Amino acid sequence: MADNCLFCKIIAGEIPSTKVYEDEHVFAFRDINPQAPVHVLVVPKSHIACAADINADNSAVVAHCYEAISKIARAEGLNNGYRVINNCGEDGGQTVMHLHFHLLGGEKMTEKMI
Ligand code: AMP
Ligand code: ZN
Repeated sequence: MADNCLFCKIIAGEIPSTKVYEDEHVFAFRDINPQAPVHVLVVPKSHIACAADINADNSAVVAHCYEAISKIARAEGLNNGYRVINNCGEDGGQTVMHLHFHLLGGEKMTEKMI
């Protein structure tokens, strides 16, 4: 757990969240400011600041996150598809420096990516 990391505190239960999924490696909860009918943040339990810090030693967390995304999407009824977004760093618009994937769905996403 990293000091003063909002998502580490949420994973530890120190800050409340609406949990939708948890396993050994992954924690997932509803975004406080949803951008779609379903907006879930899927977060590795280990603190990795952003996608730029993924390397051969820690890349398994990405696979674990996508395994969770598949399960959560099914549980949330996103049978017609969904969008996964990862913002990285300042230019990517990342505001919380703990790697996370936005799972968005429940309506047709805009055809423009941004
Ligand atoms: P990003 O801009 O990609 O770093 O995404 C951070 C996301 O965290 C934003 O969509 C915020 O709405 C969301 N967020 C911030 N604080 C909380 C919180 N306490 N509980 C749930 N989601 C949060
Ligand atoms: Zn963290």
